[in-house]
Amino acid sequence: MFLFDLHCDTVGRLHDSICFKPGESVFLTKGERLPETDTLLHNHGHLALDRMAGIDWCQCFAIFMPDQYRGPDAIAYFESCYRYFQTQLAQNAGRLAQVQTVGQLKSALSEGKAAAMLTVEGGSALGGDLSRVGRLAECGVRIVTLTWNGENELASGNATTHGFSGFGREAVAEFERAGIVADVSHLNDRGFEELAGFARRPFIATHSDARSVHNHPRNLTDDQFRHIVSIGGLVGLNFCVHFLSDDPDPAFPRLAAHLERFLRLGGEDVVALGSDFDGCDVPSWLGSGEKFPDLYREVCGGFGQGIADKLFFTNAADFFARWEGGM
Ligand SMILES: [Zn+2]
Repeated sequence: MFLFDLHCDTVGRLHDSICFKPGESVFLTKGERLPETDTLLHNHGHLALDRMAGIDWCQCFAIFMPDQYRGPDAIAYFESCYRYFQTQLAQNAGRLAQVQTVGQLKSALSEGKAAAMLTVEGGSALGGDLSRVGRLAECGVRIVTLTWNGENELASGNATTHGFSGFGREAVAEFERAGIVADVSHLNDRGFEELAGFARRPFIATHSDARSVHNHPRNLTDDQFRHIVSIGGLVGLNFCVHFLSDDPDPAFPRLAAHLERFLRLGGEDVVALGSDFDGCDVPSWLGSGEKFPDLYREVCGGFGQGIADKLFFTNAADFFARWEGGM
């Protein structure tokens, strides 16, 4: 089994547990505080390097931007999380390597290391300054989720109804030029429609499920999913219990229903994984990263190994290979 997970909040959760005093952290909306002694190697959250040992794994680690940070505060928060990420990489150099390309990813895996791809959740990381796109690219950021649930300088999330600002349209064009993939998870329907009209390169949804299976604004409509199929994008299945169903602890069939829907909509080469680990409540049987092999076995049993391999790794790796080729 090879694994490529498009979204987790582990770095931000660890960063905030260490860098923010109780009561100050805005990250508590995305998971309980972890002990200050926790690290990327060993922690009490959903994803820890020691517990993932033996899994051939590429993880997108998001720097999550709380909606309330603007301008210099947003930039300072991004830089603080980035420093923390670099510190963890340095401390785990034998186990984990930051990668920006599919070639680097495959090299890391062949050396027995996990591959870490840096992403940003929330375009507010630009601090309202287009020149910051270059800084994000320099840090190795490969994906930017354009909004979180609320509004930022670029556009507006699913808790609101506004569309893109002029700055947001310019920012997407700059991301495309810099080779950074735009991510529509969290964007509202109006924003999705506008982006579909002006984007010049394919965009993706890193961690969203099917709204026709469970009606939640964080999930994609059938038409939105079909659009992502038509542009050769990517959609990561989210493990968040609230996006899967009304069941507080959904079993595999609830998750399988979303995969089945996406496959029926022509998504065999588009479906991927976007666990949202350390950013949401997940089913107990899928409660942390070392359970990925259990999910793989379930998907193999229900859909066949060909689909399981595409879902778990190949579709995401192929997307980035196409993207690097100028798709
Ligand atoms: Zn998210």
